[in-house]
Amino acid sequence: MSRGEQIKAPRGTFDVLAEQAGVRASLEGSARKLLEGAGYERIETPVLEATELFARGVGASTDIVQKEMFTLEDGGGRSLALRPEGTAPICRAYVEHGMHKRKQPVKLWYLSNFFRHERAQAGRYRQFWQVGAEALGSEDPAVDAESIVLLAALLGELGVREVRLRLSSLGSGESRAAYRELLQAHLRAHEASLSEEVRGRIELNPLRAFDSDHEGTRRVMANAPRLLDHLDDDDAEHFAQVRELLDVAEVPYEVDPTLVRGLDYYTRTVFEFTSDALGAQSGVGGGGRYDGLVEKIKGTASGGEIMKGPPTHGPTTPGIGWATGIERILLAGEPAPVAASPVDLFVALGEGGEIRKASFAVLGDARSAGLTAQMELAGRSLKGQLGLANALGARYVAIVEGEETVLKDMQGGGQERLATDTVVHAVLRALRDL
Ligand code: AMP
Repeated sequence: MSRGEQIKAPRGTFDVLAEQAGVRASLEGSARKLLEGAGYERIETPVLEATELFARGVGASTDIVQKEMFTLEDGGGRSLALRPEGTAPICRAYVEHGMHKRKQPVKLWYLSNFFRHERAQAGRYRQFWQVGAEALGSEDPAVDAESIVLLAALLGELGVREVRLRLSSLGSGESRAAYRELLQAHLRAHEASLSEEVRGRIELNPLRAFDSDHEGTRRVMANAPRLLDHLDDDDAEHFAQVRELLDVAEVPYEVDPTLVRGLDYYTRTVFEFTSDALGAQSGVGGGGRYDGLVEKIKGTASGGEIMKGPPTHGPTTPGIGWATGIERILLAGEPAPVAASPVDLFVALGEGGEIRKASFAVLGDARSAGLTAQMELAGRSLKGQLGLANALGARYVAIVEGEETVLKDMQGGGQERLATDTVVHAVLRALRDL
């Protein structure tokens, strides 16, 4: 950037101005009501985490870790990352705060900003916001179903249009490992038709081949073995129960055996909500089960310290969660109109000496008494001040003239002259009697 050039917000980031802030606040209110009503507690984790947390948690072979993290070094040579997602930090916090000792599952929700070095376009930003919900410590299929039902309810309440839910199971353990070998053999047998990227990932992350939009790869994947046909009995039963409970809740879904998600940690249930009202970036929210993620990231505290937590041996900590993008919800939804805050009293500066001090005192008294109040701050004429009060929709205007004040009723039209120190009382009384 040359000297003197106007400085703008960095590519892929944006300012949230008043009207949008209001819509976002109302969205946050809906999420809070729904999730806290279901026993989810709010959590805030730091924007900065040890880079290692995501490398271990999200997976070294994922796009997020390979290409999209904003990283920096602290003074001690440690690598820190601006968080690209919320699940790994929550698993870290679960271990760091000994939450395995609490009643399980521990249910947590967040509304936070995340950072990914992506090619910015409509619906895809470098700083974006997500509401997320995570339930740790139980593998009961009812936790999966409840989690999915809550996201469906949230998107419904926020008016997200033309929503579809796709669902699958990625299995776990040995059957998943056996399937992986089967898929790798299929990919190797057709290596010449695959995209370079998919070919490069056969060893590390063969499942991602299902996500490719490369023509040749898609043809190869159309005949690839499907994980859903290779689940072991426990995983198949788990998936069947999740589906049964979604049917009970009357949440429609389609089973999509090609559904894989961009993060390595998923096991068993995975799901994604899309909206046909969105363009190319049609994902509104998604998630899945991540049994074993907690164990994977143990040893990575926020500052990189070794962590104490659940025993390293023994059963792994199950978990499931989702995240939904606020900007996508706003693009695909019908945001609730937000009423502007009312102004009970506008304090105007009348004629006379020391008016600013007397006005400032009235402003303070009004706010202490619980009124919403604003004061003239830009040296306008009295006419200009009344115009501003009108534009703000102020219910009353106090024109302070020293020891006396003219109190104007902006709706009723009347006015009266009062001792300045009784003005706030008069407004309170009038509002009470309305
Ligand atoms: P993910 O964490 O990748 O599973 O994404 C979950 C949701 O977050 C997506 O369905 C989107 O709604 C949203 N999201 C992910 N990445 C971005 C981005 N770069 N810009 C805006 N929203 C995003």
